[in-house]
Order: sequence, then C-alpha cells, then structure tokens
Amino acid sequence: MGVDYDIFQEINDKVDLLAYASQTIDMEQRGDDWFGQCPLHVDNTPSFSITPSKNYYYCFSCGAHGGIVKFLMDFEHLSYKEAVEKALRLANIDGDVLCRSRVFTFMSRTKKMLQKKKVPKHMILNDSEYNNPRYERKPAQEWIDEGIPPDVQDLFGVRIDKRSNRIIYPVYDRDFHLINIKGRTRYKNYKELKIPKYTSYFPVGTVDYMQGLNVTLPYIKEKNEIIIFESIKSVMKAYAWGYKNAASAEKHTLTEEQVRLILGLKVNVVFAYDSDISYFEGRQWENICKMKMFTNVYIIDDKKRLLGGKDAKNSPVDVSREVWEELYKSKRKVI
Ligand SMILES: [Zn+2]
Repeated sequence: MGVDYDIFQEINDKVDLLAYASQTIDMEQRGDDWFGQCPLHVDNTPSFSITPSKNYYYCFSCGAHGGIVKFLMDFEHLSYKEAVEKALRLANIDGDVLCRSRVFTFMSRTKKMLQKKKVPKHMILNDSEYNNPRYERKPAQEWIDEGIPPDVQDLFGVRIDKRSNRIIYPVYDRDFHLINIKGRTRYKNYKELKIPKYTSYFPVGTVDYMQGLNVTLPYIKEKNEIIIFESIKSVMKAYAWGYKNAASAEKHTLTEEQVRLILGLKVNVVFAYDSDISYFEGRQWENICKMKMFTNVYIIDDKKRLLGGKDAKNSPVDVSREVWEELYKSKRKVI
C-alpha cells in the first residue's frame, strides 16, 4: 500500500476557494456546484465551476482546474513560489518568518522533484533474496540480552548471516517492497578487523522509507502517533514494551522523502532520538519547523539526564523501561 500524499492539498484545504474566487468572479449556485464566467477567455455561458466540497475549480470550456495554489497561478499570474506564499497567507498558516521561508524552500524543492518525476533510486528485490539458506532464521542472542525478545526479532525479520557473522534485517520501501538487507557485524573487535559496524547488502539509493513501518503502520494509525527512533533496535525494544507505534529513521537527520512520508501518515509525531542529539540546530530543527506546520510535533529530550546526557549517546529506551516511560510521559510539544 502506498502512503504518498500531496502536501499542497493541505494548503488547498485550508483556503475557502469559493469565497476567494467570488471576490473577482460572479458566481451562482447550481446544485452542489457554483458557476461563473471563466476569466481566461471569452465565456458567454458560465463554464467556470467550483465544487465547494472539494475546494476545487474546473472550467468546462478551457479545462483549467486545480486548488487555490493553481488558481492563483492561473488567474493572478503568480509564479509557483508566489502562489504558495500567498496561499499560505490566505490559509493563515502560522509560523515564524524563518520557518516559513524554510518551508518554501522545502516545498519548492519537493515540487521540482515531483515535476521531474524523479523516482527513488533503489532496486526492488525479489522476496526470495531474503530466504537465502545462508541466512538463519533465529534471533540474535546479544539482542535478547539487550531486552529484545525472540518473537519480536522474528516479527521484524531479524536473521543471522552465518557466512559473514552478521545480524541482518530486511529493508522495505514505502510500498513494502524488499529493497535491501542491512547487516550489523557480530565481531566485537570489528574496528581492529577493519570491518564496518553496519553494512548494506545492496546499493542504498534514496532513503524514502522508515525502517519497521511494515510491522508498525497499523499501530501508528490506531494511536494516531508515530514515535521516531534512530535505530530499529529501539523500535523493537519499545514494541516489546507495548509501544508498537514506532519506526526508525536509521539516522538522526530525516531526508525530505522521509518528512513527506511521515506527514503523509497524518498522525502526531514524537521524536525520540539518542541523548547526544540536539533538536534545535541545523537540519534537525528545519525538519521540525516544517513538520509542525502540518501536524503536532513532540520531542523527547534528556533534560533530567536520565539517559546520562550527551556523552552517553543512549536511546530513550536504553536505560530501563521506567526511564522510557517517564521520558515518554514528559515529552514536550514544539510550538
Ligand atoms: Zn476557462
């Protein structure tokens, strides 16, 4: 299933198109729709229509159609950027000026990407790739020791690559196709051996997925909330404690594709990053600014140093269940 979503729809929904268009076009109601003369051409029979329930216009004569952003481009001859800016003003979407300009950059870039029809660059693998007999279907003892039960490991697809001595798990794209296999070495002296801690078995490409979503999406929908961790291990640990509505970004800076994916879920967002991460700088803060314009964003930060502060680099689930529950309870809304 796809979870794609047009961010512009959100703006379109927030502006009353009929009220706005009526300022310049005489509109008359006929049934559910309203009609007027299309300003784009000589129009003796009113062929310009607005469907208020969809907040959408359509001209039966010239075919012009769209929501508020497109309306401003078509009828006020604004550029795309100007139209978005004006629509945001009309929509009364709040946010400080800084945030706003970042949102534009983000949206313009995303729009350009869509126009170019740039597809995520990663291959879709055959499911049989993961059923290779060299991958043993059994849990990792070291992860059991860290509090991730065997059944939860199995649910998230954890296996053991006997040949390379790695713990592995599958990576699925946003449509839940297998796109990669990720491995974590079991050699304790991997640094000496000059072996990377993490390995991807196939080229990574665009990171437009959230790890674990194939398991947790129903719980995210049900709770109307996604908890974002940095690693799949934290997702599994929280899952075992009954916090099943989580997914992993696989690192602490979300890609634009991940931001879109998360906004597309239309749920509240809780960031639960490791104790060494500051939410208030760089890309991290930009992402939060973008997202809080469209949904409620909460952060879990280690203000009381329950996780041992910045140097400890602990995930909010790393110390104990009690600490996690306290942190989760005291999460703060970003305003
Ligand atoms: Zn027309």
